[in-house]
Amino acid sequence: MAWKEWIWILIPLAIASVIILYVAATSHPEEIRCPRCGGRNVWTPLRTNDENYKWNCLECGHRWREKYKDRMFRDWYDHRIEIVRDAVFLYISSNHPDAGSFIPHNISSAAWKELVEMRTGGITYIYEAYGWMVNVIEFTTPEVRYLLTADFSITRISNQIGIMHRIIWEGEFLNSGKIIENKYIHAF
Ligand SMILES: [Zn+2]
Repeated sequence: MAWKEWIWILIPLAIASVIILYVAATSHPEEIRCPRCGGRNVWTPLRTNDENYKWNCLECGHRWREKYKDRMFRDWYDHRIEIVRDAVFLYISSNHPDAGSFIPHNISSAAWKELVEMRTGGITYIYEAYGWMVNVIEFTTPEVRYLLTADFSITRISNQIGIMHRIIWEGEFLNSGKIIENKYIHAF
């Protein structure tokens, strides 16, 4: 075949490959991430006019405005409790260096044991991993806020023998993404 005839085969093949690649790339839902640091721990004030419009990064503090597609927003919303939980560890690591060695770097991707309890006024999410027990109570009335407890006990890690360590952190995660610490104890 002459090279001119090959073009009529190669061009449709190239177009088909581009279409296949495009479909493959867009079929997975994209994640909402911080445009500056790429972090997934981002927040938007829920049930306000700023929901899915004003965003702030809980990792680097970057603020931006963007309205994401419903599908992307719903996917983010389904992970909000984990984002609140991970924000507690970001807060503890940066404010209490003495607790740092008890917070593994991969804590957000740990195989957390999860338990959900319904209570009047809120839903409690309980997470357990690496000797930590984290309680997240979600209040949605009148304003979205979260009451948090992070409790570390070395006795929960069965193969650890040595100095007893107990860390208790209590605080609040506000709808603005701000964390307020109410209590911090590190006993050993
Ligand atoms: Zn960021």
